[in-house]
Amino acid sequence: MGQQFRPLEDGVFHFRCHPGISCFTECCARLHLILTPYDILRMKHRLALRSDEFLDRYAETFTKDGTRFPMVKLRMGRDQEGRCPFVTPEGCAIYEDRPGACRLYPVGRAAAAVQGQKTARERFFIVVEPHCQGFKEKTKWTVDEWLAHEGVSEYTAMNDAWLEIVSSPKSLGPKAHLQQKHQMFFMASYNLDGFRRFIFKSPFLTRFEVPSTLQEAVATDDVTLMKFGFEWLKFSLFGEKTIQPKRQFRAV
Ligand code: SF4
Ligand code: SF4
Repeated sequence: MGQQFRPLEDGVFHFRCHPGISCFTECCARLHLILTPYDILRMKHRLALRSDEFLDRYAETFTKDGTRFPMVKLRMGRDQEGRCPFVTPEGCAIYEDRPGACRLYPVGRAAAAVQGQKTARERFFIVVEPHCQGFKEKTKWTVDEWLAHEGVSEYTAMNDAWLEIVSSPKSLGPKAHLQQKHQMFFMASYNLDGFRRFIFKSPFLTRFEVPSTLQEAVATDDVTLMKFGFEWLKFSLFGEKTIQPKRQFRAV
């Protein structure tokens, strides 16, 4: 029997995961764990790696049905066990910076970006893995209590901003530009250090209006850089007016 989804009963569920449980860390293997840009940001900081180093060592790129853009997943061990590279007998080695999906489990969240609205439409349910013994424990949670306990909200805010781009119905323009747009999406989403080089080592700042305070923040703070990258993607992929070209480069 595989994974099952079930609704929350009376808005609560019983669950506890701890080192003493018989299934401890069994769930950290053979996962199709999609990484969001913010997941990668947190993990690369934790591991003190550049984003391209993180992608080379720990990620695989794939395309998903129904999605126009390249996706990235965490590379599981290639042996029969297929363990996550970060699992240890004591638990997750990057626990404080583990991906959003690991934080959410056993809660599932379906979110749909609503164009023009800051918050996505969301729905919660319970994901039951057959080997997971945590449901037999007595600790009771509401979804809000669980999300606060697992530190989900900053992940959700960043992920929803990105989801709005991934799920945008807007046209990507002529086919001839698609490959270039996919490369731009990949860099601004996943290769944040490469995106920073693109801003500061190309003619970018001579072509676009970026206030000096924002330039300073983008140069030093990865979260600000990522948020700026989302605005840049809306402009460069879909032609939204989120970034302003300098006067001499504006279309007349
Ligand atoms: S299978 Fe469930 S209870 Fe066991 S370690 Fe994983 S999340 Fe925790
Ligand atoms: S990142 Fe941590 S919590 Fe997530 S699958 Fe790997 S070891 Fe488990």
